[in-house]
Amino acid sequence: MKLIIASNNTHKLTEIKAILGSVFDEILSMREAGIEHETVEDGNTFMENAEKKAREIAEISGCPALADDSGLCVDALGGAPGIFSARFSGVHGDDKANNRLLLQKLQGVEDRSAHYTCAMALIWPDGKEVNAEGYLEGKIGFEEKGQNGFGYDPLFIISALNKTAAEISPEEKNSISHRAKALNDLLHKL
Ligand code: IMP
Repeated sequence: MKLIIASNNTHKLTEIKAILGSVFDEILSMREAGIEHETVEDGNTFMENAEKKAREIAEISGCPALADDSGLCVDALGGAPGIFSARFSGVHGDDKANNRLLLQKLQGVEDRSAHYTCAMALIWPDGKEVNAEGYLEGKIGFEEKGQNGFGYDPLFIISALNKTAAEISPEEKNSISHRAKALNDLLHKL
């Protein structure tokens, strides 16, 4: 059975192939499957966005499709930036501006607890669905630390390690990340 990943992100693709490779004969990115499509992410939850992306690609391709949606949820901000993580500061994907705004909003705030969430939805063309969520617990630091990772990683101190997600190696992050946890749960359910 062929699986289409509703993403062209090579990093995600490698992670997904490593974990779900035993279940599917072939795992292809949208580009590899010759699909060009942009889903409007207008859901109210991570899972709604993941389901919408997976459903559209399953319908277009006629194959099962896997999509994820992820982000950072900060307790003191009522779960923000949440589904708006990529464009918290207004510009999509501006990590520097997003981190600056996060520090600004948490100025003088003592409770800095937060978590990363990843929602994964696997949907077949006939509507069958298996989904899973994974979390990584942490807290927001007072300054950026570390050179690895992306997004909020230099500010996100992983509770279990007392290091930011940018201070650990990509391999270590992939083994404990919200994405890895969601994928492993999905594999278990499959
Ligand atoms: P996406 O689901 O890959 O589009 O991620 C949405 C946004 O959430 C990213 O642009 C980042 O701002 C944030 N995010 C999700 N996962 C991570 C992570 O592992 N590290 C840092 N930021 C993340």
